[in-house]
Amino acid sequence: MVPTPQSILKETFGYDDFLPRQKEVIENVLQKKDTLAIMPTGGGKSLCYQIPALLQPGLTVVVSPLIALMKDQIDQLKQLGIPAVTLNSSLAASEYFKNTEKVLKGHSKLIYMAPETLRTDRISSLLENVKVDLLVVDEAHCISEWGHDFRPEYREIINVRKSLKNVTCLALTATATQKVRADIKKSLGFTDHNEFLSSFDRKNLIIEVVDKTNAVAQAVEMIEQYPGRPGIIYCFSRNQVDGLADELIRRKYSALPYHAGLDDAQRKKNQDAFIRDDVNIIVATVAFGMGINKPDVRYVLHYDLPKSLEGYYQEIGRAGRDGQPATCRLLFSYGDKNKLQYIIRSKSGKERLAAEEQLDAMLRYVEASGCRRKPLLAYFGETYKDEKCGHCDWCMAAEDKMVDITIPAQKFMSCVKRSGEVFGVQHIVDILMGIETEKVKLHNHQALSTFGIGRDRTKKDWLTLADQLINLHFIEKAGEYNSLKLTEPAMEALRSRQTITAVKPKPQRSLFDDYKDSPASGSRQSYGEPRGYSIGNQNYGEPQTSSSVRRKRMPEVDNGLYEALRQLRKAIADREHIPPYAIFADRTLVEMAAYRPKNLYSLKQIHGVGSVKSERFGDAFLKEIDRFCKEHKLEEIPKHGYSSPESLREINEKHPRFVNVSKEFIQGTSIEDLARKHNVQPQTIFGHLVKYAKCGEIIPNPERFLTFSHVNPTIREKVLKVFEEKGSESLTPAYSMLNGAVDFNELRVLQLYFICLKNRKKEKK
Ligand code: ADP
Ligand code: ZN
Repeated sequence: MVPTPQSILKETFGYDDFLPRQKEVIENVLQKKDTLAIMPTGGGKSLCYQIPALLQPGLTVVVSPLIALMKDQIDQLKQLGIPAVTLNSSLAASEYFKNTEKVLKGHSKLIYMAPETLRTDRISSLLENVKVDLLVVDEAHCISEWGHDFRPEYREIINVRKSLKNVTCLALTATATQKVRADIKKSLGFTDHNEFLSSFDRKNLIIEVVDKTNAVAQAVEMIEQYPGRPGIIYCFSRNQVDGLADELIRRKYSALPYHAGLDDAQRKKNQDAFIRDDVNIIVATVAFGMGINKPDVRYVLHYDLPKSLEGYYQEIGRAGRDGQPATCRLLFSYGDKNKLQYIIRSKSGKERLAAEEQLDAMLRYVEASGCRRKPLLAYFGETYKDEKCGHCDWCMAAEDKMVDITIPAQKFMSCVKRSGEVFGVQHIVDILMGIETEKVKLHNHQALSTFGIGRDRTKKDWLTLADQLINLHFIEKAGEYNSLKLTEPAMEALRSRQTITAVKPKPQRSLFDDYKDSPASGSRQSYGEPRGYSIGNQNYGEPQTSSSVRRKRMPEVDNGLYEALRQLRKAIADREHIPPYAIFADRTLVEMAAYRPKNLYSLKQIHGVGSVKSERFGDAFLKEIDRFCKEHKLEEIPKHGYSSPESLREINEKHPRFVNVSKEFIQGTSIEDLARKHNVQPQTIFGHLVKYAKCGEIIPNPERFLTFSHVNPTIREKVLKVFEEKGSESLTPAYSMLNGAVDFNELRVLQLYFICLKNRKKEKK
């Protein structure tokens, strides 16, 4: 089968659908057009050049500003079976040499380097000796003085670009104003500049601004919302970082500090611990984050007010890069605002003006009423068209509905009253539910008229109701045993039979609920459908929906199995010295724990399992799943069902495809029919037959293959002679002896004929 962007997406990366714009960018690059792609963090920029790199014959050069990120990328590519190297100043001479050799021999499809390395003579002479198809400029805004991270060396990329013949240039960035965009294209000498812009709305982020009341307690609340998961807490100063980190550690949370006051080694150690899941929480100043690519950060808490909206957007952007839901919460207080204003007043001139402007924009955002996404996206020139996003603090508050709780409230309160107002909530609930506990029997409460009148609701419902009544000040907890007592308004409400309403409780969600809501295919979580959006006065229309196919919901995730798989992932990651996310993403483990695949075939249906990863780690994970399933008497739930009875039989009999195809051929199905049936080219069927024949198996009547040979008899004889002399294992000798006059497809037909004849002779002997 001829590889396509779609087939590589599934085969190599294990993903079913492209993210918005990825497909268009890839196609544009493959048409050899210079391309500028602007996508938010987590938008999947890397794939935009990694797929073309695999489809094009030549080399892909990636220019990137941060050595730490390059290493991370290369580690991840390695796990996918994609050969990539880096050349940078931190490499030992031997390593540098080895990597250069790999590039020269065409053993590496991608090479990553910093812009200062790119302009060296060593690199120019290296690139002169290989064919470069694609030059990728990552973090392309660094090229512009108008951007927030200008790097002068980026300006020299154009010289290298000019020296390479027929190279396509792909510029990628997550932030770019009109001015910066124009600058990027000009500075890179784009001839045709096709621009692709993704919406900056990160749909999987829940964005909240809340009043800072008790900051430490609020930090703990945030952490408890995602127990055991990675999160970042940004503080204003080093002192605060140290203080909060100490406090969290004292409370037995897995946390470490990060700020510019720590020495380099310590900083790196703490960062690595976070990346490798050795620690869950990083408490940091904004110095943290540039060099990390961790996709599974579940929350970013701003403990203090950020100085600018741009910085804030970048920082929250580090949450949920894997596309799964994540929470970004900002604690706001007027004290923090005054503190920042005080600092700004100590500045002067242009600097002060700029800082004031930035803070103003930030304040407009936190103090705005209405959906947070509107002002946030507006700042980046994008119009958010919907009235409500449904997942920011404003929109979620609007969804808090009042519900009528009159009947259960009456039941609950009479029960409290009748049992004498001396019992705690548990006992009251037991009476309502009609549970004959020792305590119920002791007090003869089964004789109460309220005994068992609440069996229509669950225990949890009653506990929630008790909370609602406490919030309404209808009941109070008193004394050392938290006995419930009715208040005067409650007595009044009971007497007058008044209607009682309360805020509908927020459903308690388990972490896996979020995965369940998203389609089982492994597309990303998003709240609502993608929407049209516009930048400035340019309309960019409706972004593509990744897939229109309706899919089944994911079955229940087994938490025990999920934890077991996480441990296995961690163990493998530690052994290989790579971060756990480079092995499999969380979503992959969640799906494994839900579908419980039992063989390689069904494992490959799981999101994020491509062929190399399944080969490399499949057995280990399958074994663990099998062990767990046996122990807990669980069965597999096939994700898409088996695609065909044949494939099921194939797996059961452990017969590789070439054997089955060959048998079908021998039983009389024609090459053309087999190709159609298996949806491959006839060449592939010949390939299967060659494999089969090489095992010494007999395929009757080999003469029939000659009808597929189109060369004249003299040449045919020549080819067969080469097989006789040089062996028929490989086609290369015949190809080069005939100076490429006969193509590989033709050679394969003759190879098959030749091997079949030999097998027949052997058998006759
Ligand atoms: P960016 O560089 O734009 O921040 P990345 O290239 O690091 O984003 O991608 C973010 C995450 O999304 C990575 O974990 C990547 O594997 C994943 N990803 C990329 N493309 C897809 C896709 N088509 N489907 C699912 N996940 C994807
Ligand atoms: Zn909103």
